[in-house]
Amino acid sequence: MLDGDGLSNGFTHFLRIGIKTDISSFSLEGDASISDKKEHIVGEIQGGVTVSADSGGIRVGGRVFKEEMIKFTSELIPLKVGGRMFRGEIEVYLKNAKLIVVNKLDIEDYVKGVINKESIPSWPLEAKKTQAVLARTFAVYQKMFNPRSAYFDLAPTVLDQVYDGLGKEDVSSAQAVNETKGEIITLGNNPAKIYFHSTCGGTVSSSAEIWKMDEPHLQQLSCPYCTKSSLYRWTRKLKASEIAKKLGSKSVKSIKTVRGKTRVESVVVDGKKIPVNKFRELVGFSVIWSNDFTVSKSGDTFVFSGKGAGHGVGVCQWGMAGMAKLGKNHYEILKFYLKGIEVRKMY
Ligand SMILES: [Zn+2]
Repeated sequence: MLDGDGLSNGFTHFLRIGIKTDISSFSLEGDASISDKKEHIVGEIQGGVTVSADSGGIRVGGRVFKEEMIKFTSELIPLKVGGRMFRGEIEVYLKNAKLIVVNKLDIEDYVKGVINKESIPSWPLEAKKTQAVLARTFAVYQKMFNPRSAYFDLAPTVLDQVYDGLGKEDVSSAQAVNETKGEIITLGNNPAKIYFHSTCGGTVSSSAEIWKMDEPHLQQLSCPYCTKSSLYRWTRKLKASEIAKKLGSKSVKSIKTVRGKTRVESVVVDGKKIPVNKFRELVGFSVIWSNDFTVSKSGDTFVFSGKGAGHGVGVCQWGMAGMAKLGKNHYEILKFYLKGIEVRKMY
């Protein structure tokens, strides 16, 4: 799919993010031209307007455009949608008498918007560069192989990557993106399917173990670099009655874990087996921080002692910060966690 160090066939470095779907109206602020899908300029806005679905068209302030799609382009200042600022263009589609609002922008601008949501501001630059390459690779992979809808490539939520426009960008994340411009992780001739998690707790697990999905680059390995994470080791104490309430049962008398090769596979509550992720979801992903823990009972309290945070597959983010502090660069970090990959410049 990717041709040497250049672009793949027809791949443009624009992404479409579905920032709002299935809505009746939204506020738009800025000075912009309005064009139709043939790129003909059909109007303009100055200041703020309400854009709404109208019978047979899209209403912009007092005017109705009999179009299925219009596009707002601002040459100078990013447009605001619902009070949030977005680089690039705003496309509005009419579908079933509702609106879909899409932000079309350069991948590099998207990655700038994403990486501070996915990383800790105080991490060293090489860790942010690692995260930038991960975020860019994820976006390119989704666009090529798994777009969210016919109208856009990615959702702006945890379904894909959290993106809320320009508001979260800062100087060092912009630098991390600029210094890795166009770089993505490849496996063979394609962008790699990448995964990352907060803290592995000492062992990164294989995708084969956790998801029954054998990917050559997502293998088990020892990670000695994430010990600075506050969740490297954790303990949570929960009353039996509290757990019962969360599981929707009357009482809980015993909790046992069934372990796979490196992590808990399922939790057995009073003889009933629950997949570990279902258990974590019910009790709370930020109570039972990872799928690597033991349980003991003390009176009417269960004590959960765990390692790390997240699913444990792919890149350990606190580990990548630890490696960066030891002077490793982002290529070394990515190659440590992802076996057999290359980092290549797409453009
Ligand atoms: Zn780790």
